[in-house]
Amino acid sequence: MTERPPRRLLLVHAHPDDESINNGATMARYAAEGAQVTLVTCTLGERGEVIPPGLAHLTGAALGEYRRRELAAAMRELGVEDFRLLGGAGRYRDSGMMGLPDNDDPGCLWQADVDEAAAHLLEVIREVRPQVLVTYDPGGGYGHPDHIQAHRIAMRAAGLAAEAGVGIAKVYWNRVPRAVAEEAFARLAEALPGLAFAGSAVLGDVPGVVDDARITTEIDGTAYAAAKAAAMAAHATQIEVAEPYFALSNQLAQPLFATEYYELARGERGAPGVPAAGGPARETDLFAGIGAPS
Ligand SMILES: [Zn+2]
Repeated sequence: MTERPPRRLLLVHAHPDDESINNGATMARYAAEGAQVTLVTCTLGERGEVIPPGLAHLTGAALGEYRRRELAAAMRELGVEDFRLLGGAGRYRDSGMMGLPDNDDPGCLWQADVDEAAAHLLEVIREVRPQVLVTYDPGGGYGHPDHIQAHRIAMRAAGLAAEAGVGIAKVYWNRVPRAVAEEAFARLAEALPGLAFAGSAVLGDVPGVVDDARITTEIDGTAYAAAKAAAMAAHATQIEVAEPYFALSNQLAQPLFATEYYELARGERGAPGVPAAGGPARETDLFAGIGAPS
């Protein structure tokens, strides 16, 4: 048996592309530093809207299969080798946007039994033994049913892991500090006339935006910005990238953040690395404060 890398990070996401948008730089950094980075994606995103006209024929299972390959390509860009689908490919289907009839599909993630889904995740946790878990906040960042459900499953699995004696030291939620988002949108407004996007998204479109004081951790991914952009671009059915901006199928530009932010939801805060305006100093390492790994 090969030896376990000392630092092990588990990320739980709803659809292929969410990992690159939210955590691409973080994943690339820890992979490059030799940590084990494990991604669990809950659905194949079969209900995503396809951007390239040439691929518009892809729907349902065919789109899911295509997005699975996009995910593999994105992981190559980030240097991440361990990526899995919750319960196996196709176990849980994309639930579509909140309020659509798709939400009632008995096979969709929104209808899934959280305990059963969390049991699949617990198997991964038992095998990988991550010290750090990253997922969405209780609102799923922006209210998509699959993101809300991914949060519930991840948190339930973290609880089950603790009961089973394979507890995870730190659990983080994806965040963007409001001041950072506001500044980035101001820059975007100036740049917009020179960009090929139809218009600008608004701050409310960015998942996980909170007051700066709630941010506990920032990961400077500047060195991995290109890898993150390439991983996002690998999800070509879903994302159009023109660094430092990108757009989803609505063609509205958003900032592409090279520094990624987190709120520590469970666990002990480690030693701070950077001072932050309007709040306590922030960690600069998700593994900060975690003792000698086993
Ligand atoms: Zn998603």
